[in-house]
Amino acid sequence: MENIVSVNNLVKKFGDFRAVDDISFAIPKGEIFAFLGPNGAGKSTTIKMMTTLLEKTSGEIKIAGYDIDKGKDNIRKCLGIVFQDPSLDDELTAYENMEIHARLYGVDRKTLKEKIKGLLEFVELWDRQDKFVKTFSGGMKRRLEIARGFLHAPQVLFLDEPTQGLDPQTRNHIWSYVLKLNQEQGLTVFFTTHYIEEAEKIAGRVAIIDHGKIIASGTPIELMAQTKSANLEEAFLALTGNVIRDEEVSAEENMRRFANARRK
Ligand code: ADP
Ligand code: MG
Repeated sequence: MENIVSVNNLVKKFGDFRAVDDISFAIPKGEIFAFLGPNGAGKSTTIKMMTTLLEKTSGEIKIAGYDIDKGKDNIRKCLGIVFQDPSLDDELTAYENMEIHARLYGVDRKTLKEKIKGLLEFVELWDRQDKFVKTFSGGMKRRLEIARGFLHAPQVLFLDEPTQGLDPQTRNHIWSYVLKLNQEQGLTVFFTTHYIEEAEKIAGRVAIIDHGKIIASGTPIELMAQTKSANLEEAFLALTGNVIRDEEVSAEENMRRFANARRK
């Protein structure tokens, strides 16, 4: 299948430190691709380089047929981005946040209203279109961000920990929108998450990054088979020797998991 994203020998150095250390991968059109790794592994740095927010040190990035070195504007038009920290304007309404973004991206004025309505309906926020964003819950803000990310009909959606800190019900809700867009519009998705069970459920393929290097990749089932694990979280632990949510796991639990992974 045709690859819509290809990254080759990508490097990002901060001084002498190699935050992203010679990674290569490709994503076929229409795939949901998960990028997993412990804190500080280099996930956000990779996303920032791919979405033109950060200059790479070296390597190659191609998205939707465009080479990032031959101009960033073309690439930007193909992308939607949802970050962990919402970048909405709290003092504006949901509708106004959508409108500003649409103007920024040059969305056709004639179809603008219709488009905003459709997207707000899609994330079930149309009835709150004239409410100030500061009155929204975390989950509502994330949904609004996703709707906004779709205004310019991107071909690839990047989500950097979009469900961090949200309750399980809201997390499910968000992934069901992403799945729907993937299935109905063939959208390609690149995401990171601290909730490995989310990746196990929705990712077609996973790459695991640790200390700036990709140490494993494959379908969730391949990674589980490779490490003789019952689920992707165990596979992750076996591969990285690390739990992804270190702040939420007690030292005791950590030791238990290490012992389990060792036995295999
Ligand atoms: P992740 O998203 O996987 O948690 P990041 O990509 O944010 O990790 O960071 C990777 C590494 O690069 C970390 O060690 C981080 O401290 C470092 N880093 C990120 N941004 C900068 C920066 N602007 N200057 C120096 N070091 C940075
Ligand atoms: Mg990050």
